[in-house]
Amino acid sequence: MRTLKYRILPSFHALDIELTFVPTRMGPLRLHLPIWRPGRYQVQHFAKNIASVTSSQVSVVKSDLSTWVLDVVDLRPITVSYRYHAEQPDAGGSWVDESMVYINFINCLLFPHAGENRPCEVEVVLPTGDLLSIITPAGGYETSCALRTYGNQMKAKTYRELVDSPFLAAPKIHSHRWKSNGVTFYLQGLGPKTHFSDRLVKAYQKFVEYQLAYMGEFPVSEYRFMLWICPKPFYHGVEHTKSTMMVLGPEDRDSYEDLIGLGSHELYHVWNVATIRPKALLPYDYTKAVIFDTGWIIEGITTYLGDWFLWASGVVGAEEYVNLLAGNLKLHFERDGMSKQSLVESSIDLWLDGYGASLPGKRVSIYFKGALVALGLDLLIRRKFNHAKSLREVMLLMQERYGRLKKGYTRQEFYALVEEVYGESLSGFWTVWVESAAPLEEELRELLMFFGLDYQGKGLLQLNDANSFAPFNCAT
Ligand SMILES: [Zn+2]
Repeated sequence: MRTLKYRILPSFHALDIELTFVPTRMGPLRLHLPIWRPGRYQVQHFAKNIASVTSSQVSVVKSDLSTWVLDVVDLRPITVSYRYHAEQPDAGGSWVDESMVYINFINCLLFPHAGENRPCEVEVVLPTGDLLSIITPAGGYETSCALRTYGNQMKAKTYRELVDSPFLAAPKIHSHRWKSNGVTFYLQGLGPKTHFSDRLVKAYQKFVEYQLAYMGEFPVSEYRFMLWICPKPFYHGVEHTKSTMMVLGPEDRDSYEDLIGLGSHELYHVWNVATIRPKALLPYDYTKAVIFDTGWIIEGITTYLGDWFLWASGVVGAEEYVNLLAGNLKLHFERDGMSKQSLVESSIDLWLDGYGASLPGKRVSIYFKGALVALGLDLLIRRKFNHAKSLREVMLLMQERYGRLKKGYTRQEFYALVEEVYGESLSGFWTVWVESAAPLEEELRELLMFFGLDYQGKGLLQLNDANSFAPFNCAT
């Protein structure tokens, strides 16, 4: 009886939650709520959305910001109840309104201390028309979630799997399904039907197939692209092992360009962070800030390759790809080109000000400067081996040495692995590109020239020589 059983009743902006479990020993027992979620390395204190936790069987005392202590007097099952305020309308939050239920379980599900590996069962009791003042169609709700479903219940092997599997329900969910290399993929979501076009599905099929061939294996047997096209201007995606949630808006704009970029990026995270993970994040400790200096490897390589896959798989043409690349360079050089921090420092500081506003001239983006480093490494390797090797060899080796073995890597281990592929030391590169705030425009201009690209500064990039540029597209 190690199973943690959750029963969730959604209503407008609220989730009424019951957790039932059998304690393993008597005495004080701590229940925790995660204070952050993977994908955003910043403390969010979801507990601010819970007013109180109660139980009719044992006393419950709040003891810390996100911790409650139960006084366990015998080993019979205990049920605790609480209400979670679900009014965070983004991919990482939870939201219930008249038309939909979106639950990111990591926001709202308490777990017993050291219980992250206990199996879980979840029942979401979807509201009727009365509760939400809406008319639920005769067919009830449609749902999307990566968890296995048995009747009304969803099961997860562990709490970790549960909180890595967001849940979406609405009267109507648009849904496409296809198989690629034996893996079942879904594109499912809410919003005007025009956003779920055949053109979009075909583009997804292309980059999915390409990424699977590029990495040679896919870590999971089923994957869901979950999508919420919302009324307000929005652009947000969160990666998970078996799914991603993407929120885009407003409804009346063409979302195609953003959706191909975001989908490709989030899919590559299945390898780069969900599987191949920095040591400090393996396993995730949801109860404290986990500082690591390799955020630029997670987000930079994913940002760079996410766009590159669109070109390599034929979803966009060479000219569009050059524009995407130029867009990334512009975002770095115009905004952060003169910033004082290195990528290592800004990665550590994610927890301070990695998202939203920061002091002007302080940080660099682990996404855009990180993508610049990924581009630099790819070009260096390709130039030395005349395209016979590329960043692909680095990522394949990362998958083999770390991902497949479920072993975390350090920055120094990443350096050593890249140098092994490159065949010589890159200490000068790491010092300048990763560990310092030195301007990179000259280094970049020289590297890009070899690939037929003329970098004119400030994100202006010109394709001058199509013959030198074309091989940059090939995967091997
Ligand atoms: Zn990302």
